[in-house]
Amino acid sequence: MPRLLLFDIDGTLLDTGGAGGASLLDAAEEIFGVSRDELPPLDLAGATDGGVLRRLFGQAGRDFEPEAVSAYLDCYLGHLHRRLHDEAFAGQTLPGIGALLTALESSGGADIGLLTGNVRRGAEMKLRRFDLGSRFVDGAFGDDAEDRNLLGPVAMRRMTQATGRTYSVEEVIVIGDTPKDISCAHAIGARCLAVGTGHFQAEALRVHQPWLCLESLAETERVCELLLS
Ligand SMILES: [Mg+2]
Repeated sequence: MPRLLLFDIDGTLLDTGGAGGASLLDAAEEIFGVSRDELPPLDLAGATDGGVLRRLFGQAGRDFEPEAVSAYLDCYLGHLHRRLHDEAFAGQTLPGIGALLTALESSGGADIGLLTGNVRRGAEMKLRRFDLGSRFVDGAFGDDAEDRNLLGPVAMRRMTQATGRTYSVEEVIVIGDTPKDISCAHAIGARCLAVGTGHFQAEALRVHQPWLCLESLAETERVCELLLS
């Protein structure tokens, strides 16, 4: 049976250098007419865009209605595109990511997808910025549920639709950088490879009992072996 690897984006594959959070606040200023300084800090680690937006709407005293949410997302994505292509953009892929994806692809031993809180359009925009857009078959996104714990089954179903293969949870590994990545893997009975390249040190992630915990994904050969054996 094939292995199914589901990657988180922010803090796991790449770091937008704050462009993602800043764009969410740009949209709050534009849509709600508030200053970002008046808003409580965003808690983005492992969050879904839907969850973050619901909180922002609540703080602004706005109704969380589909049309308003859609307008907010369009505004956010416009700012995200601008910030990702700004001269001052300070984002980067995290150590070893390109080499790891190449090695996993050429091994033929795994199907590679996404499990991210980003809405699909935001995910694609971030990945494209680093030429990673074509590396993932499909996956689950922030548009699919506000609760990250509901994203695992969506990702598995979409990957099956795309590859024609079925996956048992024993073959699924979620790769992510926050306690919420670990719990969404646990929610479907899958393993989580937690990585300390985002908001949390590996030590802090270990407490949440992932299957494995690494400082980074930089050691291509070792990580490949762990994910494929
Ligand atoms: Mg993350």
